[in-house]
Amino acid sequence: MTNQDCIFCKIAKKEIPAEIIFEDDLILAFKDINPQAPSHILIIPKEHFPSLNEIPNEKKGILSHILMNIKKIAQQIGANKNGYRVVLNIGKNAGQEVLHIHFHLLSGRQMTWPPG
Ligand code: AMP
Ligand code: ZN
Repeated sequence: MTNQDCIFCKIAKKEIPAEIIFEDDLILAFKDINPQAPSHILIIPKEHFPSLNEIPNEKKGILSHILMNIKKIAQQIGANKNGYRVVLNIGKNAGQEVLHIHFHLLSGRQMTWPPG
Protein backbone atom coordinates (compact mmCIF):
# COMPACT_ATOMS: atom_id res chain seq x y z
CA MET A 1 0.00 0.00 0.00
CA THR A 2 1.29 3.47 -0.85
CA ASN A 3 0.38 7.00 0.11
CA GLN A 4 -0.21 9.38 -2.81
CA ASP A 5 1.29 12.42 -1.10
CA CYS A 6 4.34 10.66 0.33
CA ILE A 7 7.73 11.55 -1.19
CA PHE A 8 9.29 8.18 -0.32
CA CYS A 9 6.33 6.30 -1.84
CA LYS A 10 6.96 8.35 -4.99
CA ILE A 11 10.64 7.34 -4.92
CA ALA A 12 9.63 3.69 -4.42
CA LYS A 13 7.32 3.93 -7.46
CA LYS A 14 10.07 5.71 -9.48
CA GLU A 15 7.84 8.75 -9.89
CA ILE A 16 10.67 10.95 -8.65
CA PRO A 17 14.35 10.16 -9.09
CA ALA A 18 16.79 8.89 -6.51
CA GLU A 19 20.25 7.35 -6.58
CA ILE A 20 19.25 3.79 -5.88
CA ILE A 21 21.80 1.56 -4.16
CA PHE A 22 19.75 -1.60 -3.71
CA GLU A 23 16.23 -2.79 -4.41
CA ASP A 24 14.16 -5.93 -3.99
CA ASP A 25 10.42 -6.65 -3.85
CA LEU A 26 10.06 -5.27 -0.36
CA ILE A 27 12.61 -2.53 0.17
CA LEU A 28 14.59 0.23 -1.49
CA ALA A 29 17.92 1.81 -0.51
CA PHE A 30 18.94 5.17 -1.96
CA LYS A 31 21.33 8.03 -1.26
CA ASP A 32 20.17 10.77 1.08
CA ILE A 33 19.79 14.06 -0.79
CA ASN A 34 21.42 15.99 2.08
CA PRO A 35 24.16 13.67 3.34
CA GLN A 36 25.31 13.95 6.95
CA ALA A 37 28.36 11.72 6.43
CA PRO A 38 30.59 10.77 3.46
CA SER A 39 28.12 7.95 2.82
CA HIS A 40 24.47 8.45 3.82
CA ILE A 41 21.95 5.92 2.57
CA LEU A 42 18.25 5.64 3.40
CA ILE A 43 16.54 2.26 3.51
CA ILE A 44 12.75 2.10 3.28
CA PRO A 45 10.05 -0.53 2.95
CA LYS A 46 8.12 -0.06 -0.30
CA GLU A 47 4.94 -0.32 1.72
CA HIS A 48 3.92 2.92 3.40
CA PHE A 49 4.13 3.05 7.20
CA PRO A 50 4.53 6.53 8.74
CA SER A 51 6.91 5.30 11.44
CA LEU A 52 7.83 2.33 13.60
CA ASN A 53 4.74 3.13 15.66
CA GLU A 54 2.49 2.06 12.79
CA ILE A 55 4.21 -1.26 11.96
CA PRO A 56 1.75 -3.97 13.00
CA ASN A 57 2.94 -7.20 14.56
CA GLU A 58 2.14 -9.19 11.42
CA LYS A 59 4.54 -6.98 9.44
CA LYS A 60 7.45 -7.27 11.86
CA GLY A 61 9.44 -9.32 9.35
CA ILE A 62 10.11 -6.19 7.29
CA LEU A 63 12.25 -4.85 10.12
CA SER A 64 14.66 -7.78 10.19
CA HIS A 65 14.68 -7.80 6.38
CA ILE A 66 15.75 -4.16 6.37
CA LEU A 67 18.42 -4.66 9.04
CA MET A 68 19.91 -7.73 7.34
CA ASN A 69 20.09 -5.78 4.09
CA ILE A 70 21.71 -2.84 5.88
CA LYS A 71 24.35 -5.31 7.04
CA LYS A 72 24.79 -6.46 3.44
CA ILE A 73 25.00 -2.93 2.05
CA ALA A 74 27.50 -1.97 4.77
CA GLN A 75 29.67 -4.90 3.68
CA GLN A 76 29.34 -3.94 0.02
CA ILE A 77 30.41 -0.33 0.59
CA GLY A 78 33.16 -1.39 3.02
CA ALA A 79 31.55 0.36 5.98
CA ASN A 80 31.76 -2.77 8.11
CA LYS A 81 35.53 -2.30 8.46
CA ASN A 82 35.56 0.90 10.49
CA GLY A 83 31.93 0.93 11.58
CA TYR A 84 28.73 2.68 10.74
CA ARG A 85 25.66 4.09 12.39
CA VAL A 86 22.03 3.13 11.79
CA VAL A 87 19.47 5.74 12.83
CA LEU A 88 15.70 5.44 13.03
CA ASN A 89 13.98 8.70 13.91
CA ILE A 90 10.45 8.30 15.25
CA GLY A 91 8.22 11.32 15.68
CA LYS A 92 8.68 14.95 16.55
CA ASN A 93 11.24 14.80 19.35
CA ALA A 94 13.51 12.60 17.24
CA GLY A 95 13.29 15.11 14.38
CA GLN A 96 11.51 12.80 11.93
CA GLU A 97 10.70 14.90 8.87
CA VAL A 98 9.52 12.37 6.31
CA LEU A 99 6.55 10.34 7.54
CA HIS A 100 7.47 7.11 5.76
CA ILE A 101 9.65 4.91 7.95
CA HIS A 102 13.30 5.05 6.88
CA PHE A 103 16.53 3.83 8.36
CA HIS A 104 19.62 6.01 7.95
CA LEU A 105 22.91 4.20 7.24
CA LEU A 106 25.75 6.63 7.92
CA SER A 107 29.43 5.87 7.44
CA GLY A 108 32.81 7.21 6.38
CA ARG A 109 33.65 9.34 9.41
CA GLN A 110 33.99 9.11 13.17
CA MET A 111 30.56 9.55 14.76
CA THR A 112 30.03 11.34 18.05
CA TRP A 113 27.88 10.46 21.04
CA PRO A 114 25.42 11.57 22.30
CA PRO A 115 23.61 12.43 19.06
CA GLY A 116 22.26 15.98 18.80
P1 AMP B 1 14.28 12.23 8.94
O1 AMP B 1 14.69 13.54 9.57
O2 AMP B 1 14.73 11.04 9.74
O3 AMP B 1 12.81 12.20 8.62
O4 AMP B 1 15.11 12.12 7.61
C1 AMP B 1 14.60 12.45 6.36
C2 AMP B 1 15.77 12.36 5.41
O5 AMP B 1 15.27 12.28 4.10
C3 AMP B 1 16.71 13.56 5.49
O6 AMP B 1 18.03 13.10 5.77
C4 AMP B 1 16.61 14.16 4.08
O7 AMP B 1 17.82 14.69 3.62
C5 AMP B 1 16.14 12.98 3.26
N1 AMP B 1 15.40 13.29 2.04
C6 AMP B 1 14.32 14.08 1.92
N2 AMP B 1 13.88 14.11 0.65
C7 AMP B 1 14.70 13.29 -0.06
C8 AMP B 1 14.78 12.88 -1.44
N3 AMP B 1 13.90 13.33 -2.34
N4 AMP B 1 15.76 12.03 -1.78
C9 AMP B 1 16.65 11.58 -0.89
N5 AMP B 1 16.63 11.90 0.42
C10 AMP B 1 15.67 12.76 0.84
ZN1 ZN C 1 5.16 6.53 1.88
